[in-house]
Amino acid sequence: MNLHEYQGKQILASYGVRVQRGYVAHNAEEAVVKAKQLTAETGTGWHVIKAQIHAGGRGKGGGVKLAKNLEQVQEIAGQIIGMDLITPQTPPQGKRVHKVLVAEDVYYPGESETKEFYMSVLLNRGNGRNMIMYSTEGGMDIEEVAEHTPHLIFTEEIDPSVGLQGFQARRIAFNLGLSGEAFKEMIKFVDALYKAYIGSDSSMFEINPVLKTSDNKIMAVDAKVTLDDNALYRHADLAEMRDITEERPIEVEAKEAGLNYVDLDGTVGCMVNGAGLAMATMDLIKYAGFEPANFLDVGGTADAKRVETAFRIILKDPNVKAILINIFGGIVRCDRVAQGVVDAYKNMGDDIKVPIIVRLQGTNAEIAKELIDNSGMPILSAVQFQEAADQVKAALS
Ligand code: GDP
Ligand code: MN
Repeated sequence: MNLHEYQGKQILASYGVRVQRGYVAHNAEEAVVKAKQLTAETGTGWHVIKAQIHAGGRGKGGGVKLAKNLEQVQEIAGQIIGMDLITPQTPPQGKRVHKVLVAEDVYYPGESETKEFYMSVLLNRGNGRNMIMYSTEGGMDIEEVAEHTPHLIFTEEIDPSVGLQGFQARRIAFNLGLSGEAFKEMIKFVDALYKAYIGSDSSMFEINPVLKTSDNKIMAVDAKVTLDDNALYRHADLAEMRDITEERPIEVEAKEAGLNYVDLDGTVGCMVNGAGLAMATMDLIKYAGFEPANFLDVGGTADAKRVETAFRIILKDPNVKAILINIFGGIVRCDRVAQGVVDAYKNMGDDIKVPIIVRLQGTNAEIAKELIDNSGMPILSAVQFQEAADQVKAALS
């Protein structure tokens, strides 16, 4: 689950990480109120207005702007809220902005002593260890740094049995070219950041930029956080941070129905039990010369109700030209699934306008095939993978 910048900063602050302070506002008037409040608390006269959407590169798209007085706060917040912000990380049509973060300006005007760094904590799946990735080249696209100047990206692997060690935090501060007060500040920053990452069961914390202010404070100016969905049950407070307006509606609906669904760009919808078989089925579709419209794992209990829900979700995608159902009956019997498919089909009446190909393999597969073939419904059945691929081809050619 992804978070907004302001939510990521809340988590960071709760673990003692210094962050650029700010408040969320939903309209221009509220932005002015929040700016006044911030001035009272921090003494800042200038504010940055930052669009809150689940995508990076907001600065480039015009979603991060400096306001030098309250009139500008009102004007800029008014401009940004309601706009469709297009960044390199949004869909081509952009993402609608519903709220902004009104933050203190931390790049004190007139000073050239600030420095931006890059830092992220993430899981290295290659060796199953957490690592801190960091660079002197902050504020820029880290992918670009990796491509053109890979020697400027450093990593620090953390041994899970002992956690982040003092010498590692010192090495980071050293490699970033810091000394004196800023060096000590960076050590505290890294330590607290790592605690926040571990404590919130996150799979990624990306802080770009980490700022060294003109008075040698180290702080998080941005925060991109991905929480581990499988650990959310341990964090009721973090689970509440979910913003479903940022997620694809079709995926939200599937999640509510308990289905594992990922929307894709192809034309062949698939309904499968088990993630492994779902992947194999997507390969099968590609092998037949087409692209999958989705990934969908209906899980172990493929009864009529679940199959119907899955049908409805798949058919919401206007690109779907055929549906391939591929079920392995190991624990669940194939004839029960077949009955489920037939019943769901009956229930949906005229709503299904695309060919359906069903491949059932495993316990009672023959009975299941008979059931489908004798149902009187225009459902095509297959037993072998190859057969299923051929039928998809025939249905779409
Ligand atoms: P992103 O573009 O989505 O990564 O959003 P960021 O939060 O990283 O902000 C983009 C850029 O805005 C940063 O790299 C900074 O250069 C700039 N920025 C952020 N906060 C401030 C601020 O307080 N003052 C000034 N002058 N610039 C800021
Ligand atoms: Mn950023």
